[in-house]
Amino acid sequence: MRKTKILVTLGPATESASVIESLIRRGANIFRLNMSHASHEWTRTVYQRIREAATALDTDVAVLMDLTGPSIRTGDLAAPWQLKTGDVVELRTDATLPATTELSTTVNYPGITKDLKPGDPIAIDGGMILLRTTSTNTHRVQTEVVTGGEMKSRRHINLPGVDVNLPPLTRKDYADLDLGVEMGVDYFALSFAREPAHIQHLELLLEQKNSQARVIAKIENQQALKNLDAIVQASKGIMVARGDLGSECPLEDLPIIQRDIIERCSYHGRKVIVATQMLESMIENPVPTRAEVTDIFNAVTEQVDCVMLSGETSVGKYPVSCVDVLDRVISKTEKRYPSGRFASDAPLKTNKHKAVKAAVQLANSIPGSRLLVFTKGGVTAHLLAHQRPEAAPIYAFTENLAVSRACMTARGLFPFVIEFCAKPAETIERAITLLRNRKALVKGDPIVILSDVLHDELVVDSILLREA
Ligand code: PGA
Ligand code: MN
Repeated sequence: MRKTKILVTLGPATESASVIESLIRRGANIFRLNMSHASHEWTRTVYQRIREAATALDTDVAVLMDLTGPSIRTGDLAAPWQLKTGDVVELRTDATLPATTELSTTVNYPGITKDLKPGDPIAIDGGMILLRTTSTNTHRVQTEVVTGGEMKSRRHINLPGVDVNLPPLTRKDYADLDLGVEMGVDYFALSFAREPAHIQHLELLLEQKNSQARVIAKIENQQALKNLDAIVQASKGIMVARGDLGSECPLEDLPIIQRDIIERCSYHGRKVIVATQMLESMIENPVPTRAEVTDIFNAVTEQVDCVMLSGETSVGKYPVSCVDVLDRVISKTEKRYPSGRFASDAPLKTNKHKAVKAAVQLANSIPGSRLLVFTKGGVTAHLLAHQRPEAAPIYAFTENLAVSRACMTARGLFPFVIEFCAKPAETIERAITLLRNRKALVKGDPIVILSDVLHDELVVDSILLREA
């Protein structure tokens, strides 16, 4: 049973009901709706198809809505520019102002003139084009081309190493958020999260809107890295957004940044998703590069919770094969390296933490064992997953569908919704029967059960060892 979860971005290549069904069959656990490229009508239709496909297959998946966040973009050009090193380019924050150079375009972030200092770099299109700031005034930034190339309309801008004062969410994000809450998505990803306050702001909004959705913070620039520990603690999970990170940081730092983020998540017991270019070459080709396979292997041995596909599945030619490749590489890697280097070494704060650790150690010491957990809000289930048991899968039982879907993104955690009985022993029997019917257990398998039981009025975290 594969533990590392597969997150698939949907798009034109994967929007049909039949492809969504194939993706689930091949192993997609979470679907991402990327609001940077999706209309509300498209989002509603696809969301409906996801839920219907999962139901038809008698399984479930989680849905993550990725909010665009405040991205900086250049303006419209009459025709593309062919930029050469040394060309002078102007960025205006006000479209009504006249151009003062031949190559002049607008930019959608007025604060850029205050944030940039002479010498600061401006990366366009993921760094394909590089400009250097020469001067700024109230409404204009003058730059010089360092790396030329073809520049088209409305290009994404990164300001490597520059602290920006953008708000956490835009007007479009608020509208998308309302749609996501209304549909019932399980996660919201916050693009360009730079401070813990940004996550708290979104969480408060969700609470006011009576949503049980969880927030994933996307780490995309150096500003976020400066506040990494606080951001990790403030969120339910982190996405290593290697696409933007690769434009915002020196590329040679990227593997180190990935590992640092994973270590912080492991320490604080938060989920971590590794994203972007995992199978980039498969956008065009039916087989991955050797380097891509090794990248997946590395993420799995770093014991991340999820790996993500973006363009590979949203616009690529071989979306279903991509899921297949991930499934195969992950499964092989997990079998060979069941334990990782990043088991949390954080102090065990409460009795619950100690019980969780003991249950995992017990399961690790019994070959062929499985962990079972009964969880109301998902906390105990997640604590178990964060302790990264070696071979044993964790089957989590809850009465709450939102909790079950929240559990789907955690490594090695397999949730089921059941009704709890008045007597705990009956609930356990019910859970075991369900697992046996699903061929997840056979009679006699050793199981380690973690649950709260009532002991003379006191709720006690208890570990039970028995056979299925
Ligand atoms: P994006 O985020 O795909 O929404 O840009 C991920 C990344 O930057 O890697
Ligand atoms: Mn990004």
